[in-house]
Formats: sequence, structure tokens, C-alpha cells
Amino acid sequence: MMMKVRRYMRDSGRVLAFVFVASVIWLLFDMAALRISFNDASSLLLKERMMKERRVSRLQATTTQPMKRRFRHPVQRVHPAVTHPGRGSLSPGIVLAQVYRRGGGRQEQLMKGKSVDNQPKEGVFKTVAPRHEGGAVTPKHGAPAEKKAVNLDLTEAKKSSVVDVPNKVGLPAEGSDKIQVPPGGEKTKQLAPLLPSKKEAGAIVEKPDSKKAQDKLAKPEEARPAETTPKPVSKEKKQKEQVNGKKDVAPTKQPHKPVVEHQAGEGSKVTRKPGGVHKVLSLDVTLSPRDAKAVGQFGQAVLVGSNEDSEVRRRWDEGHFNVYLSDQIPVDRAIPDTRPEMCAGSLVHDDLPSTSVIFCFVDEVWSTLLRSVHSVLNRSPEHLLKEIILVDDFSTRDYLKEPLDKYMSQFPKVRIIRLKERQGLIRARLAGAAVAEGEVLTFLDSHVECNVGWLEPLLERVYQDRRKVPCPVIEVISDKDMSYLLVDNFQRGIFKWPLVFGWSAIPEEYIKKNNMTISDPIRCPVMAGGLFSIDKKYFYELGAYDPGLDVWGGENMEISFKIWMCGGEIEIIPCSRVGHIFRGQNPYKFPKDRQKTVERNLARVVEVWLDGYKDLFYGHGYHHLLDKKITNIGNLTEQIELRKKLKCKSFKWYLDNVYPDMVAPLVKAEGMVFNLGLRKCLTLQKSSLSFEICDLSKQGQHFNYTWMRHIRQQDLCIAPQGKGKDSSFALASCDNTKRELRWFHQSTNSVLAEHLISEFVSHHMCLEAGPQGDSVYLNPCVPTNAFQKWQFTHYHHIQ
Ligand code: UDP
Ligand code: MN
Repeated sequence: MMMKVRRYMRDSGRVLAFVFVASVIWLLFDMAALRISFNDASSLLLKERMMKERRVSRLQATTTQPMKRRFRHPVQRVHPAVTHPGRGSLSPGIVLAQVYRRGGGRQEQLMKGKSVDNQPKEGVFKTVAPRHEGGAVTPKHGAPAEKKAVNLDLTEAKKSSVVDVPNKVGLPAEGSDKIQVPPGGEKTKQLAPLLPSKKEAGAIVEKPDSKKAQDKLAKPEEARPAETTPKPVSKEKKQKEQVNGKKDVAPTKQPHKPVVEHQAGEGSKVTRKPGGVHKVLSLDVTLSPRDAKAVGQFGQAVLVGSNEDSEVRRRWDEGHFNVYLSDQIPVDRAIPDTRPEMCAGSLVHDDLPSTSVIFCFVDEVWSTLLRSVHSVLNRSPEHLLKEIILVDDFSTRDYLKEPLDKYMSQFPKVRIIRLKERQGLIRARLAGAAVAEGEVLTFLDSHVECNVGWLEPLLERVYQDRRKVPCPVIEVISDKDMSYLLVDNFQRGIFKWPLVFGWSAIPEEYIKKNNMTISDPIRCPVMAGGLFSIDKKYFYELGAYDPGLDVWGGENMEISFKIWMCGGEIEIIPCSRVGHIFRGQNPYKFPKDRQKTVERNLARVVEVWLDGYKDLFYGHGYHHLLDKKITNIGNLTEQIELRKKLKCKSFKWYLDNVYPDMVAPLVKAEGMVFNLGLRKCLTLQKSSLSFEICDLSKQGQHFNYTWMRHIRQQDLCIAPQGKGKDSSFALASCDNTKRELRWFHQSTNSVLAEHLISEFVSHHMCLEAGPQGDSVYLNPCVPTNAFQKWQFTHYHHIQ
């Protein structure tokens, strides 16, 4: 035993000795390397440069982010059911329909992600019995009135009589399911069910990615300042109660209890009085779908087998989503009612304004375009839907020409306008708005599905205050399996530097403090851009969109800043929900370089709306946009005039009142500039630099290190001068476009972090204080030289 131990000790001793020797050798090598590197400032600079390059590429990665403007919300899968192409639903569709439509506790459970059994309960079948049998197609405009009649007293003159307005607009034409493949396109084959890929199976629930965003939210009490609400608080409060469904309170316009008749079940029979209110109409022609077993019915995920992968891939680029699958799903499929439970009971006014729904598209996939239009026709009250305007932004695909005209001719409310050249999303929307006849404009992307009850809650907000710009909750239609996914509640649209759009969850404590319910409108600093309603006159009062914005991108920032800063409000309305296919890429071509187009658009927005904060934008990787020789952002006179004319508030006001949790320091660092070697502070006196004992009260010692990387006091910036050994510095008047005024400082964690490195003098030079404290000059950078190390009193760290 002892022998064993001794041998073991001997063995381990040998090992230890080996480790020791190896470490010593390693250390020697390391020290040598360190000495080499310390002696060789240029190798360090090389390292520094590499670090910088990495940083730049990181920045470039950030700057591509605005491309994915409307990135997906955190989602939950509404129901785990899936269908297989050709075989229909794996679970009986009708049962799913009950689950979805019933709402109530069951839906709440679904929303909380709890499992729910699919078994129909006796009562469930009774309360939401299908309004017409089976999957039979009701002929166009031939809806039996008693099945989905909305009886509205439409005008004051007809106050006593009840007008029967059958909701017939949305019924698909007979056999319209056959037209879902573009005419001339391939008819869907019957497909064998196959297993999902692992990725698909794992995609059932996605965890919200909003932790960081949450952390950044500021004090809740600041987020809802009363002064930002342009209308009397009492009215606002009443509205809140109505939308919450907390109280059956008649709005201010209607002092008495309104005359509202509700039919049992889903069919809403409403006697309408001006100023009166009624429960939101839960109109949905697809409530009992034509073919409950159809692929993707009820928004279920569809599994495409591996033998169809090549087809899926082949057609993917047509829309950058699963076009192959979309073409098999009915254009009028049912989707789950994902509204919070209380929404169905909320009250809206009888005399809401009508709306023109505007879809702009360029080379949109046939089936998704049709599904978008049908979802509006099928789930909007007829009297509120003035028209649907399809703006064809010079598409190249043949099926979007005559075949589309032909298909849409069966719906009198649908108008198609065609642009003679490619205008881009922004000018296409302007073209749609120009011909719109509704009182409210509702813009939608051309690959959406509007959910039940989506429209009235939006119009209600505009009715309450025409300066309110309501957006539906944008839910997710999976680009892969086309399932309809419920998104997390309490999400709002925000931006981060450099104007990157994102979603952020409202913190728990804010929700509690404000007694917010899941159906309360959410103040939204930035809208995602694709889907919103706006009073038409107000849209024009605001100067609509800047028509100088090209193709796509930045327009959501423009309209958001404009609305908030010029007296309006953007809200997300949880009772209004619209699914949207989020694509990884834009499926259409950009006439010019895509990145440059978005950057240019953003620069236009920044120049008009961001005041001094534009440095934050440029300083986050967009310096190059300042060079007018590289980027021509066009003329902004009209936009600047407009801002003046509307007497819009400052961007600071916007940050303080609308988005107080945004960290937006105007400079990167500020205060005194302390030299570590000299232990004194840089002082600017009578246009020359010197050193003094640090004293906060001395204005001459206050400098800013700006987002443009300038060392600045008032209008004077420290500038390197000369080349090589003769390099010196000078004081120059500041100019953001001048690259030579920029100094790197604290930009990496490297040994040169505390140095002030001018990168525009050959071989990188560092600012150095003379040892006597009577001079300051440029010298080759030496990491250990304390006279080259500088510290500002205060550094602002964001992100
Ligand atoms: N669109 C357009 N012209 C363009 C670019 C886009 O009409 O030059 C349409 C597009 O077809 C879609 C809407 O504008 O209906 C929004 O574009 P997209 O869906 O690509 O934006 P995302 O949702 O990715 O932000
Ligand atoms: Mn879109």
C-alpha cells in the first residue's frame, strides 16, 4: 500500500515537475513576446488597427439591421396542431374552431401556453355552432342575411328603422379556392404527409428576446406623461374603460345608455345610433370554413415532407417564404381568434369613420395577396370598409396584371391602381392615399391576415381623437410552416442607435403600477411601419410621408417622429390583431443598392427630425453619410419648412416624453481632460492649450468628446497637424464632416484605450503632454507612456 502511494507520489511529482518546467518555459516565451510587443509600438498599432477593423465590421453588421425593420415579435404558438398537405388536419378542424372561437378561459390558457385538450364540450358546440353547414361555398354576394346580418341604423334620418346590411362583401366566389394558384400556375398536387424537420418541431414556442430591451426601460411614471395626451383626460379615461371592457360606460358623445341590441352568439345585430356604442362586431365569414380539413386551416402549421423540399426551395425566392405551401392553403382560411378575452366585449361607437384599406405590392405572391384581401373582406364590417385599394408598384409578374383584375372584379369594393414606374413603398402608399375616399386610411402589407374584430378598435381610436394613429398587434405568420402565431402581450415598437427598429416589452412594474390590462392601448414610440390606420385629413396635415424617401426603409421612423413631435400619438391596440409574414429578405429588387437606399432614407429623416441627436446616428457607424460627395440625400427644404409650419416639438421633447427610457447622451464623454503622466488637466485659454491643476469650476477645462470623436470646446476642435515626426496639433473650427478631426479614445479594451489616437496622421500618432506641462504634441503611440494617457471626467455608456 505504502509503495503504491510512494510510487503515486513519485509519478505525480514527475508530472508536477514537468508542468512546472513547461510553465517556466511558457512564461519565458510569454515575457519575450510581451517585451517584443511592448517595444514594438507599431505591432501594437497593427493590433489596434485589427481591433478597429473588427469593430468596424461589427458596426457594419449593426448598420444592416435597419434592413430587418419589422423583425418578428416574440411569439407563442396558438395551438400545436398541424396539418399535412393533402390529408388535411390531424385534429378534427371543427374542434379546433371551437377552441379558437370560444375565447374565454380556454383561450386565456392557450395564451399562457398551457396545454388545452381538444375535446369539444357539449356547451361549446351549442354556443358557436357553425352558421352555415359544412364546407360549402356560399355564392358571391349571396350570403343568407339571417346568418350574418349586421343590422345597423345607418343614418339619423333612418333612426327608427333598422337597416339590414348583410355582410356579404367578403364571401369568396364560388369555387374561389380553385383560383388560389395563380392562373397559369401549377395546380396543387395532393401531397403525402411527412415528418417535420427538427427545426420546425422546435419552433413551437419562442422565448421572448426582450430582456435587454426591458432592462433599458426607464421609470414607468415618465412613460405616460399627461401632457402628451392632447385631449381631455376624462374622455381618455372613459375610452380606456370602454376598451378595457371594465365598465359599460357610454362615451361622452352619448350621455344615455346607448341602444344596442346584441344577438346571442357571434352574429351581431346592432341598432345603430349616432354617438351610440355597440360591442365590437365579431364578424368573420370564415368562422365556419368551407373546408375544415384544408391545409393550413385554422392557422395550423403545415408540415412539408422532405420529398417536397426541392419544390419548397425552388419556389422560396418568389416571396422569401414558403410560397409552395401558401399556394395550397385556402385564400380564405380561418385563423385563431387571438384577441385577449375582454376584447370581444369591448364597446365601440356606432358612427365610426369609414376606411380605405391600402395594400401596396410589388411582385407579391398570388396566394398571399389574395389571402390579405380576403381577410379584410371577410372580417371587416361592410359599412366601415369604404374600399380596398391595391397599388401595384410596377410589378413584373404577369399574374398580377389581367388575372388579378379579373379575380378582383368580383369584389366591387376592390380597386386596383397601377403605377407606371417603380415608385417604392413610400410613394406607392402616397399614390393609394391620393385616390382614397374613406375618412381613415388603413395601410397594410400585402402578405397579412386580418383577424376577427381587427378594424373597429382601430377606427375607434381615430374616432376618439383624430391625432391618434393606432396600429394593430402584428402577429406572426410563419414563413416556413405558414402557421398563425400569437405574439407576446405588452410589446411596443422602439428604436435603438443607429435608428434600428425593435420590440420591447413593457416592464412588469409599469404594468402593475398603471393597472394595465392586456387590452389597453399601448403608447408606442415607433411604429413598425407596415400596418396602421390614420385619419386621412390628419395624414395630409402632417405632410404625409416625405416623398423623397425611396423604395423601402426609414419611413416608419419618419412618420413616427413626425406624429409624436407634431402633436399626435402612436398606439398599439391589443384588441386589433393582424398576422404578417416576416421574411428574411425583401423578395423584390431595389433599383439602387439596397443598403445605400435605406441609409439615404435614414439620413433624410435624421437631418429633418433629430436635431443635435443626429450625431448619435452618424456616430454609430454612419459617418460616411456626412460626406456629401459620397451620398446625396437630396433636398430637404420642404421637410424642414413643414416641421416649422407645424410647430413641431424638439427631438429632446420626444425622448423625454415619449421614449424616456432611451439613453441618448449628446456626447460620448465630457468634463475635464486629465493627463495621467502630468496629473493635470488640459486647459484652453485664449486659443491655446496648456495644463493647469484640475478645477471643475474653470470653463476652460471643460471639453466634450463627441459622437463624431471630436475633442471639442464650443466651436473649437483639437486637430492633428503635420506628418510623421513633425506632427503637431492645431485648434480648428469644428466640422462634423472633417475626418481629420477625429480621435480614437476608449474605443477598445486594448492597451491604447486611454490614448487619444489620431488616425489621420500617417502611422497613427498619439496626443502627448510635455513632461514640464508647458506643451502638448503628437508622438508615436507608446502603450506604457502615461503622458499619452487621458481621462475625461465622465463617460456616457450606452448599450
Ligand atoms: N412594397 C412596394 N414597393 C416597394 C417595396 C415594397 O409596394 O418598392 C410593398 C411590399 O410589396 C409590401 C410592403 O410594401 O406589401 C412592405 O414591404 P415589405 O413587406 O418588404 O416590408 P417588411 O414587412 O419586410 O418590412
Ligand atoms: Mn411585410
